[in-house]
Amino acid sequence: MTVKIPVIHTPDTPNTDQKSNLLGMSKDELSQFFVNMGEKAFRATQVMKWIYQFGVTDFFEMTNLSKALQAKLDKVACVVPPAVKFKQFSEDGTRKWVFEVAGGSLVETVLIPAEDGKQFGRKTLCVSSQVGCALDCSFCSTGKQGFERDLTASEIIGQLWVANQSYMQGVAPTERENRVTNVVMMGMGEPLLNYEPVVASMSLMLDDHAFGLSKRRVTLSTSGIVPKMYDLAKDIDVALAISLHAPNDELRNELVPINKKYPLAELIRAAKAYVYDENPRHKKHVTIEYVMLHGVNDSDKHAHELVALLADLPSKINLIPFNPFPHAPYGRSSNNRIHAFSNILNQAGFVCTVRQTRGDDIDAACGQLVGQVADRTRRAKKWQESIQKRQDQKA
Ligand code: SF4
Repeated sequence: MTVKIPVIHTPDTPNTDQKSNLLGMSKDELSQFFVNMGEKAFRATQVMKWIYQFGVTDFFEMTNLSKALQAKLDKVACVVPPAVKFKQFSEDGTRKWVFEVAGGSLVETVLIPAEDGKQFGRKTLCVSSQVGCALDCSFCSTGKQGFERDLTASEIIGQLWVANQSYMQGVAPTERENRVTNVVMMGMGEPLLNYEPVVASMSLMLDDHAFGLSKRRVTLSTSGIVPKMYDLAKDIDVALAISLHAPNDELRNELVPINKKYPLAELIRAAKAYVYDENPRHKKHVTIEYVMLHGVNDSDKHAHELVALLADLPSKINLIPFNPFPHAPYGRSSNNRIHAFSNILNQAGFVCTVRQTRGDDIDAACGQLVGQVADRTRRAKKWQESIQKRQDQKA
C-alpha cells in the first residue's frame, strides 16, 4: 500500500530574490560570504553543520551564533531547499519526492532502502541533475520529455537535504542524524552535462562539515560524456558508473545515441583512465549499468561481447531489469534470461549483480522518473503519436 501525503506549502517561505540562499554554497563561498559581512570566516563551518547535519534553516535556532549575528543573517540570508510539490512513501521503505524548482519546473528524487529494512541500514538516494534530459536514450522515460534546464547546486544538494529531513521530524536539532548513506547521481539528466553544479554538490556530499559521506558512497553515473570524464578524474574522487546497456557500437548507437559522438572505444579508454589515474587514492573499479531489454541486448552473444569489451577494465556489472513505462517499445528480459546472462559474466570472472526493482507501487523504480513530471516539451506526446501512426499504418 502506498501512503500518499498531501503537498505542504509553507506560507512563510523566504523570498530568495532578496536574500542569499546559503544552501549549496561551498565552504569557501560561505567563508567569503561571512568575510563580506564583516564576520570571521570560521562562521561558515558552524553554519554548515547546522544546515547539513542538523537540518536547521532558522538562524535563531543556531545556538552557537550570537544573537546579533543571528539577526544579521536573518536579514540577508536564507536556507531554502527546493519546494516539495508531492511526496509518496512506499511500504517497502522507498520514498519519492517531486520538487518544484525555480521557474516551476518539476524534478524527481527517489530513496531506496536496503532490502533488510533496518532502520539505520543502507539508504540510497537517486538524485537528479537536470530538468529532463537531452540525450534521449531509447529505453528511458526521462529522455522522452526532452531537456528543459540544468539544476543549480542548491537544487541538487537540496534533494539530499530534504531526504534526510524526512527522518528528522520531531527530533531535537542537536540529536538529528543524517540517514541517507549513499548517493547516486543517476536521476533525471546527464550529470556530466551540468558539470560545475554537480561537482560542487558532490563536494558538499563529501565535506565533513556538510554531509560527510565516504567517497565510495557517492557515485556519478554517466552515459559517456568522454571529455568530462577526464575532467572528473582530476576534480573529485567519487565512484563512477557507466550506463553502458550495449556491448557494441551498432546497438549502443540505437539505445544510447550519445554513443555516435563518443563511441565505445573512446568511452572505455576514458573509463580506464579514471580507474588508473595517477592519484594515489585511485579508484578501484567502475560500475557498469546494463538494462536488460527482452530480445534486444540480452542474448548469450551479447554477454560474451560484453566480457570481451570489459576485459581490461576493472568493473562490476549491475544488470537492471527494464521497468516498462507507457508506450515503451521494449519489454523486460525474463528472470531465466537475466540469470543465464549473469552466469556468463560470472564465469568470466566479473562480479555481477542484478538490481532488485523496488518501489514499483509508486513508480519510483529507475527509468520511471518521468511518472509525475509534466511533459514540457511535448516530446513524449510526439513520440506516442509517432508510435500510434506506425500502428495505424500496420493495421
Ligand atoms: S538514461 Fe540518463 S542520459 Fe539517457 S535519456 Fe535517460 S536520463 Fe538522459
